Amino acid sequence: MHTSSSQTSWFPIVLRLQDAHVLVIGGGNVAANKVQLLVPTGAKVEVLSASLTPELQRLSESGAITHVLADVSAHDVQKRLTHCRLVYVATNDAALNRELAALCQAANVPVCAVDDPAISSFITPALSIRGAVQIAVSTGGAAPVLARRLRARIEEILPAGLHKLAEFMQSKRLSLREHVPNTSERRQIWERFLDGKGQHLALEGNVQAAEQELERLTQTQQTQGEVWLVGAGPGNPDLLTLAALRLMQDADTVLYDNLVGPDILNYVRRDAERVFVGKQRNRHTLPQEGINDELIRRAKAGERVLRLKGGDPFIFGRGGEEMEALVAAGVPFRIVPGISAANGCAAYAGIPLTHRDCAQACLFITGHARADGTLELAWDKIALRGQTVVIYMGLNMLPFLCEKLQKHGLPADWPAALVERGTTAQQRVFEGTLTTLPALATTHKVTSPTLVIIGEVVRHRVIPTQDTQ
Ligand code: SAH
Repeated sequence: MHTSSSQTSWFPIVLRLQDAHVLVIGGGNVAANKVQLLVPTGAKVEVLSASLTPELQRLSESGAITHVLADVSAHDVQKRLTHCRLVYVATNDAALNRELAALCQAANVPVCAVDDPAISSFITPALSIRGAVQIAVSTGGAAPVLARRLRARIEEILPAGLHKLAEFMQSKRLSLREHVPNTSERRQIWERFLDGKGQHLALEGNVQAAEQELERLTQTQQTQGEVWLVGAGPGNPDLLTLAALRLMQDADTVLYDNLVGPDILNYVRRDAERVFVGKQRNRHTLPQEGINDELIRRAKAGERVLRLKGGDPFIFGRGGEEMEALVAAGVPFRIVPGISAANGCAAYAGIPLTHRDCAQACLFITGHARADGTLELAWDKIALRGQTVVIYMGLNMLPFLCEKLQKHGLPADWPAALVERGTTAQQRVFEGTLTTLPALATTHKVTSPTLVIIGEVVRHRVIPTQDTQ
């Protein structure tokens, strides 16, 4: 048993308590709160205590609960454990609560000692109940007041009539399953129902019209899937767009690569299939053509495929190639832009990409060498004063890049910066010059992904108080 709730991680489940014996020890307000939650579940609630609140008294008189009038003793509790599904311990004697909780734990009966998660084997979350819809907020006993606040905020956005909507959906579940055996198609029908007027009709309790709408959607099923090319931004989930978030919640499958980390994937619908197609140390997990084929194959099978890319899909993201392949295959697609590394890193590092005083243009270039190790760029257009140069994938070729820019006219002390893992909690920024930058990268063991920003704007850097995560 853990002694501190901060070391415990809890697992939320929803229990069926119909006809189950639940023992509540204690007859005060705290016990009464739990009893009120338990009675509607159909549990057989037995309250063991020497006295009852008026509310509990009323419930006892109406037969909704059974009251055992007794001074609480370990012996009495022990006797009842053989047939109890759950026990709530809520006397006002902390030592007694501990003793009784230990007794339950020893007998393997789940026990909740109210307000004392350290000796409990389960805890009750803050609940919002709207018919079949139950929303539970738990902080694992760490901060019950916070849980209640969050619940209140969630309640504000729950539509009235939610229980009617759930009821309607439940009443149609089985027949829809018979008509549309394919799970993914069925989910799409319900999603279109919820996104459209069906939801409002069911919320209002207009069952007949809601049925017609569901019928209509069932007959106009989309069998063709889609591909969504979506930019996930530079790493910090705060920088996802609302469109990206919505599609992440709707997708059947997600194809993602290295730049899309777990923090971002957390926001993808739990039961979506996740397929990693990124590069690992120069070993392509799937070559580009393989990715294109996979997108097309899945969309043709009716899936809604999310192609999630770091930054923006059209900025050094090969989104153009994927789009062309989809057009050629006749697969419908959508594109959602993302905040590119240049924008994200510059903002979180506090470097303006343009500045009236020194940069009237900003160039995004790739520093990725070709397979033969060479990198051919229009150096004369890049090595110019009055502009900022942002280099993607420039870390490996950094010494070469800095040297070329100097050879083509920029001064040796021309300002430059590196932003490693920009916008995330691991962000590091190094300021230097074309001469010092390569050594800075080596000394500080800078790794990918890193963005290079070159130009006088680096001197205008001001460190912002940004939230990274
Ligand atoms: N489509 C992406 C870029 C892909 S190319 C976008 O729009 O941002 C990959 C390069 O992007 C990396 O080598 C690095 O130079 C840069 N990059 C991406 N995310 C980054 C981050 N969080 N911090 C620093 N550089 C990043």
